[in-house]
Amino acid sequence: MQSVTDIHHDSRAHASLGASSSHRWLMCPPSVRLSEHFEERPSVYAEEGTFLHELCELKLHRYLGDMTREVIDRQYEEHRDNDFYSDEAETVTDEYVNFCIETIEAIRLSCPDPLIMVEHRLDYSEYVPDGFGTGDLVIVADGVIEVIDFKGGRGVRVDADHNSQLMLYGLGALLEFDPLYDIRTVRMTIVQPRLGNTSTFEIAADALIEWAEKEVRPKALLAYEGKGEFCAGEHCQFCNAKYTCRARSEYFMQLAKQDFKEPNLLTDEEIADLLPMADSLNKWVQDLLAYATQQAVDGKSWPGYKLVAGRSVRRYTSEAEVIRACEKAGFTDIYKTSLLGVGDLEKRMGRKKFAELLGKYILKPTGAPTLVPESDPRKAYADAATDFKN
Ligand code: SF4
Repeated sequence: MQSVTDIHHDSRAHASLGASSSHRWLMCPPSVRLSEHFEERPSVYAEEGTFLHELCELKLHRYLGDMTREVIDRQYEEHRDNDFYSDEAETVTDEYVNFCIETIEAIRLSCPDPLIMVEHRLDYSEYVPDGFGTGDLVIVADGVIEVIDFKGGRGVRVDADHNSQLMLYGLGALLEFDPLYDIRTVRMTIVQPRLGNTSTFEIAADALIEWAEKEVRPKALLAYEGKGEFCAGEHCQFCNAKYTCRARSEYFMQLAKQDFKEPNLLTDEEIADLLPMADSLNKWVQDLLAYATQQAVDGKSWPGYKLVAGRSVRRYTSEAEVIRACEKAGFTDIYKTSLLGVGDLEKRMGRKKFAELLGKYILKPTGAPTLVPESDPRKAYADAATDFKN
């Protein structure tokens, strides 16, 4: 086991052909070099993700006993002072760590001394120039490698099935440990507690190597050299060049230029053809507006446009002064009390306690009908509405 002193993920190195961006560069190899012209903007979600990963790591080290009690306590104190710390942060990291512990215990039943590594650097540069990533938890047992990845996001559900990020982690682990452990299977799991998502994908070691040879290596070389075909799609949302990328713009302009048969009304077939594009077109337009607005704020002028102040909400400069002025004038009916919303109360109480204490008082009505692609994992509206009635 590794010995550990301090946990600070903000110093984690990032490869330009990193595993986390691999879906994008496998789809659009030249995006890697094009993106380098744009500054990476830190997001609050990324910062929170880093914090949650650190908490997961601390808890795993506590379980594994490879850090001294004093170091763990000190670092825990530091993390408790962080703005991202909450009961909910404890709950989601507990869920991930519990899954890891169950997996480790299950493996130990058949393999008493597996190799267990937390935040392990995984090098796959044999297939991807300078390629490496960090596995949240890597376990090597008899003939099997397990890679378990924590995702703190609550927006998009991430599936492990043929997930290139996890497959690159698995590849790095395979390249490192196969010579000593005769690995036959690589098993990869994503634990995404905020969406109740635990997803596992398993692949034979030979098949993983074949994927790396045939799919990854050629595209990684193109990406490294800034060559290959631009290819726009859903993956553009994670590209730093997305605001001004010509290929993306041409893709959407092309989509918008549908060759409609009748001049007056769209047919059902034409609407069905347009639907899959609506969401992507909307995102592209929003990106374009956000970019143009930021440029205008920075001093650029766009012909025919000007910056104005958007809608704003009036607020008190000093609540204490307002209360004093009202009371002095005899206005006492100035307060309202209301219960915290479900999300805020759950956050304050912690998910487990909230479910125990208040679960029976929570009603989740069926949401408004929303049209989504067939592949969306949610139940069809009619089934969800029946469940709700029942
Ligand atoms: S925005 Fe899309 S098409 Fe353009 S470089 Fe990035 S991934 Fe490729």
